[in-house]
Amino acid sequence: MYLKPKTLSEAVSVLASSGGQILAGGTDFYPALGEGLPQGNVVDITTLGEIRGISSDRDWIRIGGLTTWSDVIRTPLPRCFDALKAAAREIGSVQIQNRGTVAGNLCNASPAADGVPPLIALDAEVELVSAAETRRMPLEQFLVGNRKTQRRAEEILAAVLIPRNIEDGASSFLKLGARRYLVISISMVAAILQPDAAGRVTDARVAVGSCSATAQRLRDLERALTGQLLKPGIGRVVAARHLSQLSPIDDVRATAIYRQDASLTLVRRALEACAERA
Ligand SMILES: Cc1cc2nc3c(=O)[nH]c(=O)nc-3n(C[C@H](O)[C@H](O)[C@H](O)COP(=O)(O)OP(=O)(O)OC[C@H]3O[C@@H](n4cnc5c(N)ncnc54)[C@H](O)[C@@H]3O)c2cc1C
Repeated sequence: MYLKPKTLSEAVSVLASSGGQILAGGTDFYPALGEGLPQGNVVDITTLGEIRGISSDRDWIRIGGLTTWSDVIRTPLPRCFDALKAAAREIGSVQIQNRGTVAGNLCNASPAADGVPPLIALDAEVELVSAAETRRMPLEQFLVGNRKTQRRAEEILAAVLIPRNIEDGASSFLKLGARRYLVISISMVAAILQPDAAGRVTDARVAVGSCSATAQRLRDLERALTGQLLKPGIGRVVAARHLSQLSPIDDVRATAIYRQDASLTLVRRALEACAERA
């Protein structure tokens, strides 16, 4: 059965009663079916306008789950979101960015999801709504493995919430693929560096995707960057040991050794890009 609720409360009750699968932009949903048809009920949430768009209050910026990547690109946002915007511009093509949603990217939970490194660098949290309750958790906890999340079948990811504590941070996102355009990442890096008035880094966030089952923050590196002057040359702080927690695999796109080595270069370049923007 194909169901198309009009409000979030209708959607969560339809989801609970039908046990259906959620359909948003469909840009991961349909390719995953191959030549097949959806099995069981489908709950199309594309008309839930109340969970689309970006708003803010004093403490949080709220990205509705149904917000498309094109919406992210078009919305004026603080500087620390430059990495997220750059990632949005790299997701597929303009047609994919017009359909694909932020929640779809997160709930599909691909290790190569380009939206994840910038959002975990922003300390994003996810809001999960069901007929019974609304709960929140850090995105880093929500993503538990390759295609695995903590989402319960009856929950809709209604919003991604970003704390407003690093808004002036310079940020960058770099993606490496086998070609320049319309490509799945071999590695990608998001960096945010917040300097104080003297130009020293007070808050450093670095996340790497496509090199482990879920994207990872490099917290040892973040500690090493804190207190450094945010100026060209800051990339030299990075050493291979800062990336030792990554566990890249060999696959059709690249070998594990290449991924590890390329990620080191990407991290250095991402930090240099932040220094250029500071
Ligand atoms: C040609 C092509 C190129 C692509 N290139 C890239 C790329 O470069 N980088 C990249 O990261 N991705 C890429 N993608 C993947 C995809 O476009 C993105 O992951 C997109 O953000 C998925 O969003 P969607 O709304 O289409 O999700 P859908 O396909 O509708 O859903 C994906 C999954 O999430 C679930 N879901 C969706 N919304 C919610 C919600 N609100 N709450 C709970 N569960 C939900 C669905 O049930 C489904 O399991 C590409 C896809 C295609 C077809």
